[in-house]
Amino acid sequence: MDYQTLLDNVAAEVAPLIGTGNVADYIPALAGVDPMSFGMAIADLDGGVHGVGQWRQAFSVQSISKVFSLAMTLSRDGQTLWKSVGREPSGNPFNSLVQLEAENGVPRNPFINAGAIVVTDHLVELAGDASGALLDFLRSETEEDTIGFDADVAASEAAHGDRNASLAHFMRSYGNLRNPVPTVLEHYFRQCSLSMSCEEVALAATFLARHGVLRDGRRLLTRSEAKQINAVMLTCGTYDAAGDFAYRVGLPAKSGVGGGILAVIPQRCTICVWSPGLDVQGNSVAGAAALDVFTTMTGWSIF
Ligand code: GLU
Repeated sequence: MDYQTLLDNVAAEVAPLIGTGNVADYIPALAGVDPMSFGMAIADLDGGVHGVGQWRQAFSVQSISKVFSLAMTLSRDGQTLWKSVGREPSGNPFNSLVQLEAENGVPRNPFINAGAIVVTDHLVELAGDASGALLDFLRSETEEDTIGFDADVAASEAAHGDRNASLAHFMRSYGNLRNPVPTVLEHYFRQCSLSMSCEEVALAATFLARHGVLRDGRRLLTRSEAKQINAVMLTCGTYDAAGDFAYRVGLPAKSGVGGGILAVIPQRCTICVWSPGLDVQGNSVAGAAALDVFTTMTGWSIF
């Protein structure tokens, strides 16, 4: 497969969409990013990485980090987490409070904010320094020591984090958060502030295309756990548009409000695309279109 020609063709096809949609501004530190940015990278399972556009420029990964914290939590304890968080699409916005009350403080899935806060709480319990353990993992899997947290983004999120704080306090009142709210939120905001390029995100996620095996051949997850994460990505990974995204793209994927989307093609490769203009559900307009075009051109959807 000539990945470079493929990526060039995909980029040319979606070029008219770059700059459409809206850059997330509810976290003020994200609002200044150039809406005309676009990058896309593919990491194959032989160690090759291919890219187009700004595929080596770091961006705010935001909710894509939730895939990695879920993997790290399951790798340390594959059972306990699922008593605290469900596996169903929420059908509600990613930061909604409404459903939590009706469902006794147990979030629908690990990718809405409430669910990701519960995952972080478990990782604090299992690893101590949850965000530090996550950073160590990402650096080692990409062999890239420059990956780091963006302190301005983390501070901006904390300063405007009343909604996430409400979710956390609410869950703690139901006994579904073990650690103090400020501790859990500190790690959650830091993990969302991770700054990585498309190349680094794609490389770090290849264990999901390798049924749980890391780049050096060590196993991070059981085959079942890798399947579980891919399945939850397919059904819950792209906000309230997961059904439409599965219809269009047909791949497990996780998006973030920084405009990135990570997608997995089991036994073949991982893809990360980034363009900051978001649709109303919070998915990158050009990014989702690029993945749609990609699976149409290649026939590599999982279906
Ligand atoms: N840090 C963001 C928040 O908690 C993540 C949102 C997202 O990317 O979905 O609101």
